Amino acid sequence: MSDILFPRITLIGFGLIGSSLARVIRRDGLSGHIAVCARSQGTLDAAVRLELADSVTHSPEEAVKDADLVVICAPLGANKTIAKAMAPGLKKGCIVSDVGSVKQMVIDHVAPHLPDGVHLVPAHPVAGTEHSGPDAGFAELFDGHWCILTPKEDCDKAAVDRMAELWRRAGMTIEIMDARHHDQVLAITSHLPHMIAYTIVDTATGLESHLQQEVIKFSAGGFRDFTRIAASDPVMWRDVFLTNRDAVLEMLGRFLEDLSVLQRAIRVGDGKALEALFTRTRAIRRSIIDAGQETAAPDFGRAQTHEDKETGKTQGDLVKGAKG
Ligand code: NAP
Repeated sequence: MSDILFPRITLIGFGLIGSSLARVIRRDGLSGHIAVCARSQGTLDAAVRLELADSVTHSPEEAVKDADLVVICAPLGANKTIAKAMAPGLKKGCIVSDVGSVKQMVIDHVAPHLPDGVHLVPAHPVAGTEHSGPDAGFAELFDGHWCILTPKEDCDKAAVDRMAELWRRAGMTIEIMDARHHDQVLAITSHLPHMIAYTIVDTATGLESHLQQEVIKFSAGGFRDFTRIAASDPVMWRDVFLTNRDAVLEMLGRFLEDLSVLQRAIRVGDGKALEALFTRTRAIRRSIIDAGQETAAPDFGRAQTHEDKETGKTQGDLVKGAKG
C-alpha cells in the first residue's frame, strides 16, 4: 500500500522547519514530489544537495503549480507577500498551510489572497531549536511534541484531517484550537520567556567589562540557560513579537505587575511571601514533568549521552524540541 498522503507538496521557505518536514516526507515516502521555493540560491542548492527537493525555484507561483499541499515555512513577516505571489498558481482543492509561531496573523494575511476552492489549515508544530537554515533540520525534530492546528470553523473537515495526518506521521500529537486562543497560550509559554531571555542577556552585555567576564565564567548559575533561548533566530523572533503584539503586551503587563510584587517582598524583607511564591512555582515544574514535557534530570539544558530511562529520550532531545 502506498504511503503517499499528498502526490505533490510545495515547501515555501526551507530552513530549520521546512527542511525538517521535508526529511520526514522523504523518510516516510509521504509525497511523490517535493517542490522547494526559497529566496537565496544557496538555500535552493542546499535542498538539492541534501536530496530533499525534486524541483526548486525562486518563484512562489511556479512552485505551487499542481501542488496538493503548500506549506509556508518562511518567517511570519513574509507570509503576505508569499500568499499574494503564489495565489495565481494554486489549483482548486489544494490545501495551504504554514508552520508559523503566531496564528491569527496567518489567517489575516494569507486567507484574503487565496482563490475559492483552496483550503487554509494553519498549523504550528511546537518544536524547534535555536539553529536556522536547511542544514540545521532533522526528521526527529517533531517527535513527541504538539502540533496545533487553527482552522476557521467553516474550514473543510477533510482538509483538516489530512493536515493532522501529516503531522501525526511526523510523530506529533494534534490539538485543534481557535487562532486567537493559540496566540494567547503561546504568548505566555513561549513568547514572554523569549522576551525575558533576550532582556537578561542584553542587560548582562551592558555591564562593565570586568563584570561581563564574570558573568560568562559563572554562567552555570542560571544565566547559561537563558543564553540558549536568547540565541534564537533574530528575524523569526522579530516577526513573532510584531505579529502577536496584543497578546504579548497583555502577558508582559501581568508579568510586570507580578515582578513588582516580588520586588516589594524583597525590599520589605517579606520572606514568607517569597517562600510561598517559590513553593507555588516548584509545583508547576512538577506538573510539567508529570505531563511528560520534561524529565526530572537535575542538569536541565545540558546534552546527555545516556538515554533517559522513562522517556527513551536524551535530555538534549527534550531541550531541542522545547522551542518555537
Ligand atoms: P529559518 O531556518 O530561518 O528559515 C527560513 C526560510 O524562509 C529560509 O529558507 C528563507 O530563505 C525563507 N524565506 C524567508 N523569506 C522568504 C520569502 N519572502 N520567500 C520565500 N522564502 C523566504 O526559519 P525557521 O526556524 O525554519 O522558521 C520558519 C517558520 O517556522 C517561522 O514562521 C517560525 O515562526 C516557525 N517556527 C519556528 C520554530 C523554531 O524553533 N525555529 C518552531 C516552530 C515554528 P533563504 O534561506 O533563501 O533566505
